[in-house]
Amino acid sequence: MTAADNATRMPVAFISHGSPTLAFDNVPARDFLVRLGSLLPRPKAIVCISAHWEAAVPSVTGSDTPGTIHDFYGFPQVLYELRYDAPGDPALAARIVGLLEAGGHAPAIDYDRGLDHGAWSPLLLAYPQSGIPVVQLSLLHRHSPADHIALGRLLAPLRDEGVLILGSGGAVHNLRALDWHNQSGIPEWASAFDDWLTANIVAGNFDALSDYRVRAPNASIAHPSEDHILPLFVSLGAAAGNLATIEGSQLHRGFTFGSLGMSSYAWGR
Ligand code: ZN
Repeated sequence: MTAADNATRMPVAFISHGSPTLAFDNVPARDFLVRLGSLLPRPKAIVCISAHWEAAVPSVTGSDTPGTIHDFYGFPQVLYELRYDAPGDPALAARIVGLLEAGGHAPAIDYDRGLDHGAWSPLLLAYPQSGIPVVQLSLLHRHSPADHIALGRLLAPLRDEGVLILGSGGAVHNLRALDWHNQSGIPEWASAFDDWLTANIVAGNFDALSDYRVRAPNASIAHPSEDHILPLFVSLGAAAGNLATIEGSQLHRGFTFGSLGMSSYAWGR
């Protein structure tokens, strides 16, 4: 593909995918994801960066028929019967490898891996049976937010090729703090972190965001591990490209199970 194939510069998004049960939860975050496809131009393909795939080198799915990985345990059987039958896109996988190699990485293509639930669970709601190809790109194991912003910057040219770059994680994600019956409302620590995150995304304050662990209120409570916020930094980098920074917008705010943050963001809309 070339830029001439598609005059539309695609926005970049980050979504919170919540619990694997999201498809069956009667919550505003589910309704938002059902609407997401209508809020963005229809992409030619989707590159999803999920919280649920970390690798030593950036890795992309190379299958033309990626399967549905049910990478969760102890949930109702109906969840294990869900399938997301999006095609893969080996040519796009190769294009991503080229972009990352030009940026000094030694990426890998995984021809066997399917889509994990961080990718297929929200895409099943946003783009059901759309036929839009999906490629997953891994996070970098034990790498910083700044490293993930840099990784995302390398993906920016894909925006001019009709590709939606979609980070999928969680704005606030502490599984030990969940209240499955949601009887106590949104904890103040979760709300404060979410507000800080949104304010800095809207302001395009990359310095503060990449230093969120020090600067954000309750960061280590909101994210005991970083896996669910790192996809946000890939989205940030992809949205900014060669620019030092870019301002974003909040598409959705909310919480499920008490403190599980469901905020979602877009850039370049
Ligand atoms: Zn997750």
